[in-house]
Amino acid sequence: MHPMRILLTNDDGIDAPGLQALYSAVADLGEVTVVAPDRQRSAVGHAVTLHKPLRLRECRMADGAVAWSSSGTPSDCIALGYDVLMADRADLVISGINDGANLGWDVTYSGTVMAAMEAVMLGVPAIAMSVAARGAPNGYEAAARFARRLALSAFEHGMPQGVLLNVNVPGCPQGDIQGVCVTTQGRREYIDRVDTRTDPRGHAYYWLAGVVKDEHPATGSDVAAVAANFVSVTPLQLDLTAYSACEPVSQWQLRVE
Ligand code: MN
Repeated sequence: MHPMRILLTNDDGIDAPGLQALYSAVADLGEVTVVAPDRQRSAVGHAVTLHKPLRLRECRMADGAVAWSSSGTPSDCIALGYDVLMADRADLVISGINDGANLGWDVTYSGTVMAAMEAVMLGVPAIAMSVAARGAPNGYEAAARFARRLALSAFEHGMPQGVLLNVNVPGCPQGDIQGVCVTTQGRREYIDRVDTRTDPRGHAYYWLAGVVKDEHPATGSDVAAVAANFVSVTPLQLDLTAYSACEPVSQWQLRVE
C-alpha cells in the first residue's frame, strides 16, 4: 500500500497557526502537501478564480518542510494542489484548522468547509476542521490531535462517497471537552446583521457583522453539540435539493409561455 497522500489547506492563510498545528499533527502520516492562500480568505465560500492567472509560491513550514502559498481562494488551492502538485493523486484533504466555528447555515460562507467540498467534487475524501472560539490557541492542540485520529479512522473505515466531515472542536479548555458527537447541520441565524455607521465626510458605510440569535439549538445539531462542549462531526454532502419541496413545486404546473 502506498503512503497516504494528504493535501492540507485553509482559509486563514498560509501563516495561520491553525494550519501549522494541523500540519504538525499529520506530517508523519504520509506524504503531506500544503497549499494555502497567501492571505486571509475567510468567508469566501466556494469562490474560484476564473478570470485571472493564479500563482504558486514555495515557502516553508516551521519544521522546514516545503509548502506552497497561492494567490487564489481555498477552493483554488485544492485545484492547484491536486492537479499541479499531486498529479491527481490524493487520498485525503484536510482543511483548517479554522480560527472560529463553522456551524449550521454558516458552512456555506466558509472557505474552510467549501475547500473540503471542492475536494469531494474531485472525488477525494475531505475533512474540514474548525475551533469554535476565535483566537483560542489551546483549541488548536486538541483539534489537531483529533484531526489525526479522524484521518486514521477515515483510512481504516473508508469515507462514505461524496461526503465531507465538518468538524468543530469547542474552544473550551481541553479537560472540559465532553466527548464526540456525530451531528446534523443546525441553524445559525443572526440579528443586527448590518451595522450602519457614518464616515468622517458624513456618508453612510456598513459593516456586516451581527450577533448569533440566541435560541435553543436543535437536539442533535452541530450547534447544540459545541454549546455542550462536545466535538461535533457533521457529515455533509453536495446535494442541496429540498426533496420534500419537489412535489409541491411541481404542483404549480409551470410552463413556458
Ligand atoms: Mn477562516
